[in-house]
Formats: sequence, structure tokens, C-alpha cells
Amino acid sequence: MTERRRDPLSGEWRTFATHRQDRTFLPPSDQCPLCPTRDPSVPTEVPWSSFDVAVFDNRFPSMVAHPPPPDVAAFGVHDVLPATGATEVVVYSDDHQATLASLGQDRIRLVVDVWAERYAALGQREDIAYVFVFENRGEVVGVTLHHPHGQIYGYPEIPPVPARELEVARRHLAEQGTCLLCEVVAQERADGLRLVARNDAFIAFVPFAARFPYEVHVVAHRHAPSLLDLSDPDRDALAAILEQVLVGYDALFGFPLPFIMAMHQAPSDDGEWQAVSHLHLEFTPLHRAPDRLKYLAGSELGGGAFLNDVAPERAAAALRAAR
Ligand SMILES: [Zn+2]
Ligand SMILES: [Zn+2]
Ligand SMILES: [Zn+2]
Repeated sequence: MTERRRDPLSGEWRTFATHRQDRTFLPPSDQCPLCPTRDPSVPTEVPWSSFDVAVFDNRFPSMVAHPPPPDVAAFGVHDVLPATGATEVVVYSDDHQATLASLGQDRIRLVVDVWAERYAALGQREDIAYVFVFENRGEVVGVTLHHPHGQIYGYPEIPPVPARELEVARRHLAEQGTCLLCEVVAQERADGLRLVARNDAFIAFVPFAARFPYEVHVVAHRHAPSLLDLSDPDRDALAAILEQVLVGYDALFGFPLPFIMAMHQAPSDDGEWQAVSHLHLEFTPLHRAPDRLKYLAGSELGGGAFLNDVAPERAAAALRAAR
């Protein structure tokens, strides 16, 4: 069963892909499907014997260009659609042990270029309204393969989290005449208390009202709606600040800190979102201490209201000091 069902209460689309239950789960490192094919008689998902960055369709996709018809029919207030879209895997390196942080700024820059290229290619597809670049790192956030990699989903509509941000930003633009995130960047730069890193084109900071104790947002100074609006030096600056954030995380915790990285940029539908879309990346580690996790519980999952045990200013100071 592969299909999308809409929850009538929230209006949100949910994707069902039951074949994913059988996907490769934490294989031993000598059977890693994302390693290069070193022995042609035992091919992996990557046909080359070595590579820098590799991109390909997820073998266990939740959304595809030509999905099968849904198993159930829509009825009453319940909507169903085929699971149209795209799910791609971006492998950051042929080195199984590497992380994005350990690969260094030049390789991160290459990954930034790949993200931009896929954003452009998937965004041109009629059936895709939003290109979502993300990474799940670490078993506590549900990673099933340890090889350093991220993912790109192409959704047929703008997913709920960026959709809500865009609606808030659109309202702010109508009322105040400015881009909300442009104001956030200016104010965080001036205040400085929550800054984690900064360079000519980007800042990294713990948000004023962070959801997670060590949440960090990386935001372009300029109003760049997407990666495609970044200059060459801007892309270098993004690679540099990503490395700083990632190295800081691992240094503060003393181990490769698991996190979810989510990139929010302009939708690729024709919804005229450019004026309120401002490129940013959100890192949400689940740890609140090296031996303690923050779980989504009643208030967060049931109420959508986050409780945070760490002051953002303290988290930022700790991350600054760790590097
Ligand atoms: Zn591997
Ligand atoms: Zn802006
Ligand atoms: Zn966002």
C-alpha cells in the first residue's frame, strides 16, 4: 500500500508506504547499501567504486513520479490521493565512517551545490510543489543506515511546518511591509546573545523561542528565497558555517550529536511565495544533556506546545565556547 490520506481534522496529508517496513535496517558496515561497489559481484546501490557525492532515488520510496492507485477510495470527509512526489538519497561521501562535519568545508560546499541542483530539477516538475532537503542523523532520530547521507523529498503540496511559517510571514509582510526572517536576522545580529557563529553571508543562532534545548537555525543575511539565489561566495559561506555548527555540536557533547536538519526555502509551486521565503536550515538535536533526551510528550504532541528546559542564551554560549 502506497498512498496519501488527508486527516480531516488537521487538514494535513499523511503518506502511507507499508513496503518501507521491510527496508534495510542498521546493516553491518560490510553490507552497507550506500558504500561504493568495490566488488562487482556484490553491487551496492552505488555502482561506482569511488565517488565524492552520489544522488539517486530511494529504493524504498514513500512518494514516486508514477504511483500506484490508492488501496482505498475516498469517502465523505476522507480524501485519498496517489503518493505522487519524489524521494532521493544524497550520499555525502564514499567513506562509511565520515560525517558531514569531518568531510570539511570543500566537500560540504559540493553537497550544497548538489542540494541546489536537485532543488532546481525537482522544483521544475509539475507534480512537485515543495522540495524538502533534510538529514536524519543518529539512531535516536530513526536512522536506519549509518553511512553519511541526507535525503530530499518532493511533496505535491507545501508540508505543514513550512506552510505555517509562510502564512505567518505573509501576514507579517502585509501588516509591516517587511520579510519576517530578514528582521529576525537583523535583530539576532544586533543582540548577539544567541549567536553561535557568523560570517559574511550567514548567521547561526539558537532561536529566541527554541523548541529544543540545542536547536540552531542557520539563516542567510540577505533575502535569498532559495539556494538558487546564493552567489558563489554565499555558498562557500554556507558550507563554512555548517561545518562550524556541526563541529560545535560534536565538541560540546563529546560524541557525534544526533540531529534532524531541515532546510526551508521557497516552494516551487507558483504561489508567489518569493517575498516571504527566506532560506534557512533548522537543526533540532533531541539531546538536552549527553545522557538525556527530550521526548515529545503530552504538551508537544498532544498540544503542539513545546516546553524547553534550557535557556537559549545559555545553549548558545555553550555552543560558542565548545568550538
Ligand atoms: Zn557505507
Ligand atoms: Zn527575508
Ligand atoms: Zn523554518
